[in-house]
Amino acid sequence: MTGEITPAFLDRLKVVLGDAGWSVDPARLQPKLIEWRRRWTGTTPFLALPKSAAEVAAVVRLCAQAGVPITPQGGNTGLVGGQIPQGEILLSTERLRAIRDLDGLDDVMVVEAGATLAATHEAALAAGRRFPLNLASEGSATIGGLISTNAGGTAVLRYGNMRDLVLGLEVVLPNGDLWNGLKRLRKDNTGYDLKQLIIGAEGTLGVVTAAALKLYPTLASRAVAFVGVASPREAAELLILAKAVAGGELEAFELIARLGVALAVRHLPGLREPLESLPPWYVLIEIANSRPRSADAVLEGLLARALENDIILDGVLAQNDTQGRAFWAIREGQSAAQLPEGPAWKHDISVPLSRVPDFIAQASRDLQVRFPGVRIDAFGHMGDGNIHFDVLAPIGGDLDRHSAARDDGARLVHDLVTAMQGSISAEHGLGIMKTDEAESLKSPIEIAALRAIRASLDPHRVMNPRVLF
Ligand SMILES: Cc1cc2nc3c(=O)[nH]c(=O)nc-3n(C[C@H](O)[C@H](O)[C@H](O)COP(=O)(O)OP(=O)(O)OC[C@H]3O[C@@H](n4cnc5c(N)ncnc54)[C@H](O)[C@@H]3O)c2cc1C
Repeated sequence: MTGEITPAFLDRLKVVLGDAGWSVDPARLQPKLIEWRRRWTGTTPFLALPKSAAEVAAVVRLCAQAGVPITPQGGNTGLVGGQIPQGEILLSTERLRAIRDLDGLDDVMVVEAGATLAATHEAALAAGRRFPLNLASEGSATIGGLISTNAGGTAVLRYGNMRDLVLGLEVVLPNGDLWNGLKRLRKDNTGYDLKQLIIGAEGTLGVVTAAALKLYPTLASRAVAFVGVASPREAAELLILAKAVAGGELEAFELIARLGVALAVRHLPGLREPLESLPPWYVLIEIANSRPRSADAVLEGLLARALENDIILDGVLAQNDTQGRAFWAIREGQSAAQLPEGPAWKHDISVPLSRVPDFIAQASRDLQVRFPGVRIDAFGHMGDGNIHFDVLAPIGGDLDRHSAARDDGARLVHDLVTAMQGSISAEHGLGIMKTDEAESLKSPIEIAALRAIRASLDPHRVMNPRVLF
């Protein structure tokens, strides 16, 4: 049942939301209807801007009763198009931004869904604690969006992804019921875990309105280094050594190809080559702990052993916070640095850690045979086996032709990922970009079970109907 969105229905939503709680103004809607890379654009007859969980519940209930579909949206930084409506009601969480509570003994903060990750970091730091999810979109990405995509980022190696960082949720279910699951327990072994189903559901099982998040101690000491390695195989050896030397203090381990560093230096203001030797591959390593001034010594010791054992070619330790931030800007600017080079085929893949070097080598070889001259910009969370394996057009190549070959390139890359027991979406989700492909790769038994769960909560498929199974 898909209900018609009539003027009378919209009037009922307006009454629930009040004058400041909705818009149909094209200028107000426009930035919410376009994905930041301009890959997807959308339409909506109505933007709902609820200011409380109760208002979200009232909107969802009306939509469920009328069979009218809804697309939830947070910061619109999602990379697979799930937040861009195609005619549905657009429900934005931008007015749900409060930090409701922060408890130092429980080590928990309760945050509303529309709060940005940056605002969440700030609030935790102001209370002498830390929320350890880090990613480049932190200024816009919201807690609700990060939960709904089970976001990862650069510190998953140490703290896990959103599934590991959420203790409780408040959610408006697809029928409009408001579920208060804002528990703050570290142990709660009482059967099925509804919150874990909703994390990563990409808005299909309800609207997240608030979350109880785990906090960690602040870091007293951090050390960052950029090192050069001959290939991803040496990077894997370095990872083994780093885990042995730094143990639980290894905060990040990011791989970047020479092309990625060169593009960042060429296209992003204020960045410089980190290593004059221009090695073929780089690793950005961060060690962090709660003891003043000890991270530098751990990282220096690691680099010395890696040099002695011929694992790394070269390396530079950041001398201060400014240099450390400049190193991170190279890593975090990877997607932005690709933009002036034209369209990129983006692959957000994971394979078992032990297969990462083989994957990069074989996928690069196969792509060169099939699409001669393409430029491979592989970078990402090597410590998690998650590589952003991006493919740019040949220098001087026809950009339209490159765009047109995107699906053929993806098939080649994803076939190899599948053969290596990997995942075609390591951290960005499926959205409208990868739902069909993921469905063809999962077992029919799993798909049937997932459909049954969704149908039981949302029989009329009103929540984000084009996304997931
Ligand atoms: C420069 C850049 C770097 C990035 N780096 C990383 C990275 O390292 N790791 C990573 O994992 N991701 C990364 N991302 C992806 C992105 O930031 C995440 O997908 C983010 O989690 C989405 O949050 P959002 O608030 O922007 O959600 P949106 O983009 O608005 O929505 C994303 C999905 O969540 C749903 N949704 C949003 N809010 C809610 C809610 N309250 N309730 C229910 N459903 C909701 C939407 O319907 C949609 O399906 C990056 C993105 C950019 C632009």
